[in-house]
Amino acid sequence: MFAAVSQLRLACAARHAASSLPAAGSQRNHFGPPSSRIAVFFRLAPIPMRTSRFFLSTLKEAPADAEVVSHKLMLRAGMIKRLAGGIYTWMPLGLRVVRKVEAIVREEMDRAGAIELSMPAVQPGELWQESGRWEKYGPELLRCKDRHQRDFVIGPTHEEVITDVVRREVKSYRQLPLHFYQIQVKFRDEIRPRFGVMRGREFLMKDGYSFHASFEDLQREYRNMFATYTRIFDRLGLKFRAVAADTGSIGGTGSHEFHVLAESGEDALAYCPQSDYAANVELAEALAPAGGRPPAGNALQKVATPGRTRCEDVADLLGVALHTTVKAIAVVLAGSEAAAGAFALILLRGDHSLNELKAQKLLGEFRFARDDEIQAALGCQPGYIGPVGISGIAVHADSSVAAMADFVCGANEAGFHLTGVNFARDLPEPTRVGDLRNVIAGDPSPDGKGRLELCRGIEVGHIFQLRKKYAEALKCSFLDEGGQSRIMEMGCYGIGVTRIVGAAIEQGHDERGIVFPAAIAPFAVCIVPMGYGKSAAVRAAADALYAELVAAGVDVLLDDRNERPGVMFAEMELIGVPHRVVVGERGLAEGRFEYKGRLDSEPRMVAMAEIGRFLQDRLCAA
Ligand code: ATP
Ligand code: MG
Repeated sequence: MFAAVSQLRLACAARHAASSLPAAGSQRNHFGPPSSRIAVFFRLAPIPMRTSRFFLSTLKEAPADAEVVSHKLMLRAGMIKRLAGGIYTWMPLGLRVVRKVEAIVREEMDRAGAIELSMPAVQPGELWQESGRWEKYGPELLRCKDRHQRDFVIGPTHEEVITDVVRREVKSYRQLPLHFYQIQVKFRDEIRPRFGVMRGREFLMKDGYSFHASFEDLQREYRNMFATYTRIFDRLGLKFRAVAADTGSIGGTGSHEFHVLAESGEDALAYCPQSDYAANVELAEALAPAGGRPPAGNALQKVATPGRTRCEDVADLLGVALHTTVKAIAVVLAGSEAAAGAFALILLRGDHSLNELKAQKLLGEFRFARDDEIQAALGCQPGYIGPVGISGIAVHADSSVAAMADFVCGANEAGFHLTGVNFARDLPEPTRVGDLRNVIAGDPSPDGKGRLELCRGIEVGHIFQLRKKYAEALKCSFLDEGGQSRIMEMGCYGIGVTRIVGAAIEQGHDERGIVFPAAIAPFAVCIVPMGYGKSAAVRAAADALYAELVAAGVDVLLDDRNERPGVMFAEMELIGVPHRVVVGERGLAEGRFEYKGRLDSEPRMVAMAEIGRFLQDRLCAA
């Protein structure tokens, strides 16, 4: 009856092998559905299961404190159980998904030439003092003491430990390059753990660290990892994008984040549909307007704008476009370039928003001025402040403002604004002009190849060129060909293994529950018998199909619980099993099973003799 099934494993495995040849030069980003998803059912040892021997613990309603859909669905599906804020038990169902993500990550890291090890979660504080991060890391670092009152940390990351291993073990350029990785638990005492496992305090990360004799070799490995991450997220069946990233506090130069695209993402991304350009909005460059500033056309006028403190309201009242208005943001500079406590204005177009990171780069450290400081400096309350008629106060203009003529801004008098304002005529040229704003949709792409669009993403991977930051601090050196001692170049590469599970659900769900990418679904196929305990024929057919699928290496779940069909269907849909085969007496009498794909609107009947081939096609196409 199931002759075709036994060929399933071989056929799919062959196909997998063919499609998993290293994708030479495949460094593109995938913004659409991945072109070549690869089934992994036969690379991992499948663990088929009967529901009666498994532990499903689904809920009708998600607890009220779950904010995002993935968190709600993971709780409803019984994948995770909360122990404390940001700390979860992975229940058997959830763990199956984690293990599949891990397996893909591990396989691709091994293929890329990295070597797996496992480092301790508990690390001596001394190492962190040596690297300087004992002070710098802040309260996210969970510190504790042992019985001898010695300091320890629960590792939020492992640069210190791996660098310590390498400085002890590696002496010569002949031993380089090296890339070690692990898939291991991390603890970060996040200020706001939320979104379930997506921003947990304890979570699973794949972290890899590479060591090189030269910067060129680090760059080679960085490209290797870029391609490897592209393959990993492609195989996971996720829509993702690699973006140039801010290196943040970890330091070094050269960094990309890999983001799963989802509305609920914490990060705003800018990308160019016409090219490969993509960047975190924090970093995306806003080009200065081409063509320079037009000549002044209108006379300066003071207009009454009572109660209109926002650019939108002023533009409304005056019947002008928002982009002809200018907002002034009062700040107090504390950076090295300005005298401590210097009051200054930042000018932005009314439809633009301040990019604090860019402002910090241009102006140094700053903070927003308090109302009393604004009153003292400008004699006016916020809402009506502007750059005209103020002396001795620095005015830093975004490039788009510097190119404006005849604009509208606050008059430094409550209830009034100015129109027809022009630099050089009505106020001095700005003290400084630069890129101070966040890009908006429609801005020209910095690569000159089109216009930017915005979307949101969940960061699931991050690659850095650390250079010598840690190697220098921890004196991780080697002897070069000439016998000279030199500091190693380092790269580090992280993947949020458990965050990926949440991100995949953010991307794949419907009103009935989770729609897992086939590669990471907890089970590939479920068999739902109608009356397993009542009908000997149904039981025999369901058991036989189960045995055949198990023999073919399919990750199959047989729902042998004797629940009502509606309950079993709803549960299998909630937990995201991609393929469902129903075994019922009526179908058996006609020699047919009922099949339904997770996203199909209607089930269809499939001849029993055909079911193996039928499932094979679907599993391999995933
Ligand atoms: P984020 O900006 O989201 O805090 P990060 O820059 O601190 O991330 P890295 O130190 O680069 O993250 O860690 C590597 C990966 O680990 C991240 O890309 C992310 O996928 C994952 N990760 C980081 N923090 C958490 C967390 N609190 N919970 C789950 N996964 C996390
Ligand atoms: Mg973080």
